[in-house]
Amino acid sequence: MASPIVRFAPSPTGRIHAGNARTALYNWFFAQKQGGRFILRFDDTDEARSTREFADAIEEDLAWLGISPDRIERQSLRLASYEEAAAALKAAGLLYPCYETPEELERQRKRRLGRGLPPVYDRRALKLTEEERAALEAEGREPHWRFLLPNFSDDPFATVRTERSWDDVFRGPQSVDLASLSDPVLVRGDGSFLYTLPSVVDDRDMGVTHVLRGDDHVTNTGVQLALFEALQATPPAFGHHNLLQTEAGEGFSKRYESLSLAALRRDGIEAAALAAYASLIGTGQSVQPVNGLAELVELFDPTKVNRAPARFSVGELKNLNSRILAHLPYEAVAERLEEAGVRGGETFWHAVQGNIEKLADAAFWWRVVRDPIEPAIEPEDADFLRQAAELLPEEPFDETTWGTWTQAVKEKTGRRGKGLFLPLRRALTGATSGPELRELLPFLGRPNTLARLCAPCSGTETP
Ligand code: GLU
Repeated sequence: MASPIVRFAPSPTGRIHAGNARTALYNWFFAQKQGGRFILRFDDTDEARSTREFADAIEEDLAWLGISPDRIERQSLRLASYEEAAAALKAAGLLYPCYETPEELERQRKRRLGRGLPPVYDRRALKLTEEERAALEAEGREPHWRFLLPNFSDDPFATVRTERSWDDVFRGPQSVDLASLSDPVLVRGDGSFLYTLPSVVDDRDMGVTHVLRGDDHVTNTGVQLALFEALQATPPAFGHHNLLQTEAGEGFSKRYESLSLAALRRDGIEAAALAAYASLIGTGQSVQPVNGLAELVELFDPTKVNRAPARFSVGELKNLNSRILAHLPYEAVAERLEEAGVRGGETFWHAVQGNIEKLADAAFWWRVVRDPIEPAIEPEDADFLRQAAELLPEEPFDETTWGTWTQAVKEKTGRRGKGLFLPLRRALTGATSGPELRELLPFLGRPNTLARLCAPCSGTETP
């Protein structure tokens, strides 16, 4: 097979979310696996809602994920090609003008349902004479244009079952009966294009070999296969993956700002965690920590993607994020730690990486060891902590210091287990849990440690 060309085609009408990331990643993995090319195509024919800012933000989001498109296209710059295709369809009698208002269409639909007929458009505009059209236009009605689906033999008013079938990259054999569909509107009353035709024209002109997208597009594929035929173009292969759902079982939408890549990144989710989670849930493969996209490319297998929607749990994503951080090598985070003001180098990273939910938590622990804190000390532990202070070894501290010290404290005070460790942890870090003190102690240093242990001395000492 020649090397594939795929495309990810978001509408830049908002920030992309984890569900869009799933589509982008699957396209990316597919292309990477077979040495193919990845086109980022902005479906921006809806001028009122599309913005350049959103398009730029989508590019940034993809870059963060690790996806670098080989080519970027914008539909708004290709209108002439769509006009040309529409003209060819009109000339062939396959694109016809309709004048119904949305209210009229709704009434027709209800009437059909009431008569037990499928609620598809009955092609009545095809019956309009030249004069009737002229009269409607004189009333000020702008036509919208429908594609005449090839779902009949001679008489367009007598549709017959007409299957369009394909071997879906994700789902195996699929088919859509064109007789069950309304002729789709390709051009709006104001002359603007809906996505259906531009997508086919682009896929044809850009040599797209595989269209991989969400399974909400299965029906569109039936229509688009018919459009490829009408334009005498060879259709690409198609693949439809299951969609993500929120935990409440709702479809993802741009309304859920908190599930946008931008928001998840702000919340401290690593790109590798999002990529692994968004691509592995709802498949026969287990969600597992990875270091980067290359590992996911290896794991990618479209035949293992489930049919049912995949539940996206922010809690599970956070959990995976911690597991990924726990294994990230220092080089992978050095620059970001530096930017966050963490100066403890590799040793500090290893001390904290197993106990953080997000990278910013490393900066939190760095401040805990370096900046003054509010020690959490129970009055009944004050004596114990004073004794511990007396036993604190001289510097230099290393990772054996903690063991030596607490052993001595244990022998002197008779405290063990939680009674020994918890008051020390609370005094030294202000918290009841966190990274191993054995590893934090060298960063705290002796003066700092003493100050924290002895904070109560002045207040609680008996005269
Ligand atoms: N703009 C369309 C969408 O986001 C693209 C669908 C496709 O990939 O063909 O749903």
